[in-house]
Amino acid sequence: MNTKVLKFGGSSLADAAHFKKVGQIIREEKERKYVVVSAPGKRHNKDEKVTDLLYQCYDLAVNNQDITPVFLKIEARYNEIIDGLSLKLSLAKEYLEIKNNIISTKSKDYAASRGEYLNGIILANYMGFTFVDPKDMILFNEDGILNPEGTDASICSALKAIEYAVIPGFYGSLPDGSIKTFSRGGSDVTGSMVAKAVKASLYENWTDVSGVLMADPRIVKNPKVIETLTYKELRELSYMGTTVLHEDATLPVRSEGIPINIRNTNSPEDKGTMIIPTYRFKNPNGIITGIAGKTGFTTIIIEKDMMNGELGIGNKILEVLAKNSISFEHVPSSIDALSVIVNSKDLEEKEEFIIHQIIKAVKPDSIMIEDGLALVAVVGHNMVRAKGTAARVFTAIAKADINIKMIDQGASELNIIVGVEEKDYKNTIKAIYNEFVNN
Ligand code: ASP
Repeated sequence: MNTKVLKFGGSSLADAAHFKKVGQIIREEKERKYVVVSAPGKRHNKDEKVTDLLYQCYDLAVNNQDITPVFLKIEARYNEIIDGLSLKLSLAKEYLEIKNNIISTKSKDYAASRGEYLNGIILANYMGFTFVDPKDMILFNEDGILNPEGTDASICSALKAIEYAVIPGFYGSLPDGSIKTFSRGGSDVTGSMVAKAVKASLYENWTDVSGVLMADPRIVKNPKVIETLTYKELRELSYMGTTVLHEDATLPVRSEGIPINIRNTNSPEDKGTMIIPTYRFKNPNGIITGIAGKTGFTTIIIEKDMMNGELGIGNKILEVLAKNSISFEHVPSSIDALSVIVNSKDLEEKEEFIIHQIIKAVKPDSIMIEDGLALVAVVGHNMVRAKGTAARVFTAIAKADINIKMIDQGASELNIIVGVEEKDYKNTIKAIYNEFVNN
């Protein structure tokens, strides 16, 4: 039988009603064997995530203040779930131990990890699955970096004899046995590590949206869900601002060619988005797969007569940036001019110094700085095959009366990136979306 690994995010496990939906989803397929859980998330807009409450407890503990009022809120969250599910389960012993440990260890990661730990105990009890603590499975090195080989082997041996298990996400341990968490949203990584180790046929990532959207819903009204996406396309879109999974979550499953299915706990009948390796790509999508973008870029424009005959000038400019720990996004160039696009935040405070350094290094005729650039990426494997895609992108933008300041077609032909003024950012995305989806 195939094995599926499921991960449920905090919004999918925020209260007893959601636990019931989750239970139904898991029971629907026998292949759904290993379930990774987040801590309870927000039940409504003004609610607090349990993880945030735990971080508050930690802050109070390090300042030698009483954590009781906040800790009681956490207990109430779990008790409400337990009661709502009519479970014969008491976590009183765990609460006491955790509260004391937060006060005595003053470990931020330990405190944060208990949200997943307690939620895991509850779901395991509700499902009748084995609870498996990831403390001895997800292994970090002394420097806090994940040890992928050790983790893989430990998961394999821990789950070998267990058919159905619930595993808390987000944390593991350091070589000295103390708890270490991933960065926020890290349960996605746990799920991916488990899927890889057990050679799952599918990694289902259950959340509160019906998949990856073609464009930001705050900009485009009701954007379409992307049915199929390759890992590469996902990387391009994520880099430009689409938030789907923790950024370290794709690598483990990707290395084994295991697809990820993004699903909606509140709408399990929706197929969601399937994220697959490029070689499996048949693409039912249209010509473009998705559009993403970001504001907050600065262009440094360097002009010098006969620049193209001067060897190594580009190198010298980029070296100045590298020495100042500034990475560049794009380097569009013409015969006698070269522009470097960087993140405005990275340049802050260093601007004058950098300009001075570039002048010293390449002695340009002029150097100019332009803030307020937005980048919009149009992503899709099919763009290579379809003639005239770039023309359609540019015409759509021109028709919307927007001036394009920069164009860059990635070497892999997986994306076309345009730079526009920040004031035109949203309209650029709308114009491209309408051209390819509503036409
Ligand atoms: N509970 C943690 C967070 O809120 C980890 C996760 O949900 O994946 O970031």
